[in-house]
Amino acid sequence: MKRLYRAANLIEATQLKSMLEGMNIDCFLRNENMIRVAGEVPFDQCWPEVWIREERDTTLALQVLDVFKHPLRNRGPAWSCPKCNEWLEGQFSACWNCGTEKAP
Ligand SMILES: [Zn+2]
Repeated sequence: MKRLYRAANLIEATQLKSMLEGMNIDCFLRNENMIRVAGEVPFDQCWPEVWIREERDTTLALQVLDVFKHPLRNRGPAWSCPKCNEWLEGQFSACWNCGTEKAP
């Protein structure tokens, strides 16, 4: 067993778990009920954790985690601003430098 991720809240933990299950990765949550006793235990021990049961699933699980944490990263290729030539990652729809919209 291996801890994959410590989530900020149960919603996040549940989302990641269902993504992992969608890839047929055997996983489970820990601390999902700890929120009830928040205040009685140290705060960072209350956070829900996502664990995977099989070590061999680690590589795939980390890929799922990466997509989960950066859902916009792979949205289109990088582009350069036609106005100021700033180089921008694919997830930006407008230039952060001058505000020019990406050409459709
Ligand atoms: Zn620009």
